[in-house]
Amino acid sequence: MANPQPTAPHGPERRELILRAAVREGLLDPEEARLAAFLDLDAVAATVDSLHRAFPGPVEVLHAFAAKANCLVPVLERLRTLGMGCEVASPGEFAQALAAGFEPARIVFDSPAKTRRELARALDLGVAVNVDNWQELARIDELLTTRRTRSRFGVRVNPQIGAGAIGAMSTATATSKFGITPAEDGNTGRLVAAFRDRPWLGWLHCHVGSQGCPPDLMAEGVAATVALARTINAELGRRQVVGLDIGGGLPVNFADDRVTPDYPDYVQRLRAHAPDLLTGEFRLVTEFGRSVLAKNGFTAAYVEYTKTSGGRAIAITSAGVQVATRTVFAPEAWPLRVTAHDPTGAAKHGEPVEQDVAGPACFAGDLVAEARPLPLLEPGDLVALLDTGAYYTSTPFSYNSLLEPAVYGAAVAADGAVCFETLRRAQTVEELLDRTGG
Ligand SMILES: *Cc1c(COP(=O)(O)O)cnc(C)c1O
Repeated sequence: MANPQPTAPHGPERRELILRAAVREGLLDPEEARLAAFLDLDAVAATVDSLHRAFPGPVEVLHAFAAKANCLVPVLERLRTLGMGCEVASPGEFAQALAAGFEPARIVFDSPAKTRRELARALDLGVAVNVDNWQELARIDELLTTRRTRSRFGVRVNPQIGAGAIGAMSTATATSKFGITPAEDGNTGRLVAAFRDRPWLGWLHCHVGSQGCPPDLMAEGVAATVALARTINAELGRRQVVGLDIGGGLPVNFADDRVTPDYPDYVQRLRAHAPDLLTGEFRLVTEFGRSVLAKNGFTAAYVEYTKTSGGRAIAITSAGVQVATRTVFAPEAWPLRVTAHDPTGAAKHGEPVEQDVAGPACFAGDLVAEARPLPLLEPGDLVALLDTGAYYTSTPFSYNSLLEPAVYGAAVAADGAVCFETLRRAQTVEELLDRTGG
């Protein structure tokens, strides 16, 4: 078993073990490395294993990791060795997936804005393509007049089942920018005709939502897509839709260490709403991102100064908007847990005091937590921002020219020894100058 603590892969003891080892080894240093991110590689392996086990035979399934959730090539590489494919949505992610060694047949290309050149490249390599709209379909028709390809093609549909708790993360609202809406304007008939005229179209794709969408809502969207596949096959009198890409979007619990919902919970919801999905009638692709990594990573930063303003205790740290962009700009939608540690990385104990945990950026809103009860922080202490393995340090924001921190993978041996691997070096001032024309 890859994970020595299968019952608590994300627990506080394990984080503390990693944090203390990072301080001992100088990966965190009050002068040289005030901020760094960590990914628990054993926990990642356990999560991917639970994903594979949640979708049992006879269904044939490719779990394609959504690269935008953490696009570091060594992370993608590791997910590849754990048996995942990769979902990409830009030329950059495409290049990262290839650099990570994914076979083209295990890469899925989604994006609502694929250019002719990007599509031609995908077809030449044999990458799977999910078509977002009618105009893109016409572009592919055009490309196919001059080339042969091993790509498989799907059409992204929007089942318009409604929004979750976070509007920006809800991809299946009535007016979402993604996909074709089968329920509108005779689109179902048009889709049937499109499949009839194009024997190479064999898949349907939906990605109904992300963080904030209840699993039942997502499962309803998947069920609507299964029903559409059936309709198309029945109308054509042949098994033309052979596969369903059901997207990602499993929400992550940012409130405590429990994994809720987990993959088996979601599969149970899928079975309840779409009993035909897992019979083996259709091949499947999934595109989970956040749920694969979020809870397996944390970000650590030193406290530089502390003060009191208007009666509020404030700790100024090195972690702010540059590594926790969504949390800083939309704190209600993206709250993060913060833990307090002494300079060795050991958990701080003590009466909780309401404190603001602030970042280094020059705007007042650069707070990763507001009025948060924590043991009183002092200069030289460390804070850890939890559940940041996806969409945080891997997606930096270059405000104030704050440098991108290093990201380390950690593996914990049975005896508690921690072994680190560099997933991304810290950005240097020279690299910043070069990028900014210096
Ligand atoms: C973002 C995205 C995903 C992954 O979503 P998560 O919430 O990270 O699981 C999957 N598919 C598509 C098309 C996406 O845009």
